[in-house]
Amino acid sequence: MKLIFLGPPGAGKGTQAERIQTAHGLVQLSTGDMLRAAVAAGTETGQVAKEIMARGDLVPDDVVVGIIADRTQEADCANGYILDGFPRNVAQAEALDKMLAERSDKLDAVIELKVDDSALLARIEGRAAETEGGARADDNADALKKRLAVYHEQTAPLAGYYKNAGILRTVDGMKDMDAVTVEIEAALELKETDNAG
Ligand code: ADP
Repeated sequence: MKLIFLGPPGAGKGTQAERIQTAHGLVQLSTGDMLRAAVAAGTETGQVAKEIMARGDLVPDDVVVGIIADRTQEADCANGYILDGFPRNVAQAEALDKMLAERSDKLDAVIELKVDDSALLARIEGRAAETEGGARADDNADALKKRLAVYHEQTAPLAGYYKNAGILRTVDGMKDMDAVTVEIEAALELKETDNAG
């Protein structure tokens, strides 16, 4: 199974992707985590990404598309994967479609986690306060607000893109974490039923 988890920063997609990957034997591929690892290791990609990430902008498409094209070819991805944080704009979505088509492969479903903006800002500010001076260079209030704005401008339109493709499943991300997991599982079963019928 090949899935995308779509949702704004603070929507809980990382947490949910981790739960679903364990239950379904999939691999969670977070471009954010991979880019942070590249920054920490000081690779060429990391050097390109560092400043861009710190201010909450998007790293160039060719960089993240290249990372995903390589990573999805590794042996542990054979049973499927969850893309978490990719694609983040229409150009990346089109590159992903092209990559999968070249492999005679396709996406099974896109899970969109819907969360109110007001709730997100509260979560985001809480996270910024908790991590002040802490782990992530982009978890300060300014960069988080920027990431939310970038999400609305560039990433949110992907819901329409995948709705047109007939594979969008929207889940209420305002519920508590366990309830959201149950909703995602239900959405994935719906998908399996669709396949059978
Ligand atoms: P969050 O979803 O909490 O904002 P992520 O860990 O997914 O955080 O991403 C952190 C940062 O990494 C982004 O703000 C962006 O700079 C960069 N990044 C991650 N994925 C992509 C992508 N697909 N395209 C461009 N930049 C990305």
